[in-house]
Amino acid sequence: MTVTTKPRRTLPLLMPSQIASLKPELAEVIEYRKSGLSLNHIIGCPLDCGYCVRHLFDNFELKTPRALMSDEAAVTLLTGHRYFRTHRTPIQLFNRATDPMLPVVKPHTFNVLRLLDDRGLTNHVLVITRWRVTEEDCQILNSFRNIKLTVLVTHSGIDHPGIEPVDSAIAAASLKTLHENAERYRTILYWRPIVPGLNDTDQHIACAVELSKHAHATVFTGLFFRDEIANYYSGHGLPMPYEDTARRKIMPEESEQRILAAFHRTADADQPWGPLFRKTSCGVAYAHGEADYNGHFGIRELCDICPLAQLKLCADAWQAPDLEAVTAEARALGAIGDVEVTERAIIVKGLNEPPRYYLQHGHGYQVHDRDKPHHYRRHGRADIGWPTA
Ligand code: SF4
Repeated sequence: MTVTTKPRRTLPLLMPSQIASLKPELAEVIEYRKSGLSLNHIIGCPLDCGYCVRHLFDNFELKTPRALMSDEAAVTLLTGHRYFRTHRTPIQLFNRATDPMLPVVKPHTFNVLRLLDDRGLTNHVLVITRWRVTEEDCQILNSFRNIKLTVLVTHSGIDHPGIEPVDSAIAAASLKTLHENAERYRTILYWRPIVPGLNDTDQHIACAVELSKHAHATVFTGLFFRDEIANYYSGHGLPMPYEDTARRKIMPEESEQRILAAFHRTADADQPWGPLFRKTSCGVAYAHGEADYNGHFGIRELCDICPLAQLKLCADAWQAPDLEAVTAEARALGAIGDVEVTERAIIVKGLNEPPRYYLQHGHGYQVHDRDKPHHYRRHGRADIGWPTA
């Protein structure tokens, strides 16, 4: 089917002097994150979610989306990035400083997807939105032939207007539209951020169980509560969710237990919790019938809710790398000290997140920093909300 798109209006480019005034991390349009190499050449968002990561970039006040460069230049930068691997590196689009489905951003989102697809790339591409998605949008999303596209719909169910000014019903409607019209792409209910007392009541959980029927997979996760976000909460008189801030996401054990209990279906022995996942890449991989590209299978306690067929896929694909070869790779990236390969992860020292993710996505095996160990059952999560060992 031929899909025609309306003539698109492109966003104005920021002047070099305006770009120079941005926080350096924000002017950097490519960032390597755990779920993929992330392209962010559009910045600015009017949606005002209180917990937005834009607080970390001093970008929260920029409400009108603006472009740092053309889509063509951005895609060239991405595919020429030193950590980009053709057909392998997962890509994320506009997940840091705007929403990819805002009306003025959407033409850029579709254009970037088209540019990637036209290059014949089969990489995963993740698009995360909480905004409106129409049937016409779905036809465009179905039109890509090569990329493995996943649209993750953020739905929190939070109804505090200071924290979540956008009505969650918009995201719920988008998810249903995406799911009903999915042919070549997949869609995920991205249930986050889960905050005790705010959106983890039995009613909220029942709503998520219901919504999960309109998605190829569901991923649930907690809140990033960093100092910048805590300052915004206290400055705006918002209820503080936690006494402390943390480097990792906070997902308390008690909330998780109640969520797992609500999703559990005794009648379905092959997938007792349905397609429910703790990790983004697990949900994405499952939705496309592949093994997890982050190698979470090494952190076996994460897999205890996974559908059996998916467990087998991951088990078959998961292979510890050769120590000598991975040591040489890590050294070339700047690692210092001993490199170790355990049954859970490759342990390195002296590498920050981008080279660690580069190694991790290359091997499909977790790569951990020796100085920031992950604790049993709290992989990638803050200690807050978990009983001390
Ligand atoms: S088996 Fe484990 S690693 Fe694989 S998708 Fe399931 S939870 Fe993730």
